[in-house]
Amino acid sequence: MLDTTAFFLIGSNLSVDFINTEIVENGAPKDLLASLAEFAAWAAATNVLDRAKAERLVAAWGSESETAAVIAHIQTFRSILRDMITGLAQGASVKATAIHAINAELQNKNSAVEIRQTESGFDKLFRADFTEPRQLLAPIAESAADLLCYGDLTYLKKCENAECILYFYDTTKNHSRRWCSMAGCGNRAKVAAFYQRQREKAKKL
Ligand SMILES: [Zn+2]
Repeated sequence: MLDTTAFFLIGSNLSVDFINTEIVENGAPKDLLASLAEFAAWAAATNVLDRAKAERLVAAWGSESETAAVIAHIQTFRSILRDMITGLAQGASVKATAIHAINAELQNKNSAVEIRQTESGFDKLFRADFTEPRQLLAPIAESAADLLCYGDLTYLKKCENAECILYFYDTTKNHSRRWCSMAGCGNRAKVAAFYQRQREKAKKL
């Protein structure tokens, strides 16, 4: 069974959620996409694949040596997107290598897109007959392309917790989002501020 619960789907964009598969846990870096099974689980968690299809694909995917090359390719694409998104969040421009990498994955596209109405707006879903792991990068490349073509890049932000490396596309009404999640880093900041106030009060007594 694929574990689809390990991921941080807080980016409001598939390509941002993709780079958020590199996290910091207890002060140490951790890669949530270290195997093809994890990649398929992530694809199921983000609705790029349905879960049954993800499980069938994992069972069908190649030998160990092929797998290592494919994982390396997936991680390289992720690091190019990470470099692009972290750069954009700091106001840098997009490098030609990122555009080439996105275009290369878009060429592998064999998916149809459909939209679905949700409570808060619309969701874009990919319907495709995925057979190879690399094909799953096409929807990710497409969301990166959407971000560049239609997004407001000033809304790309890093979580304000200095120890957290999660990014998000801020879709809140007044674009004042500061944290990956209120329950995680937002709450930690609130608790820290509370103790800081307590300490200041104690000093005054
Ligand atoms: Zn955070």
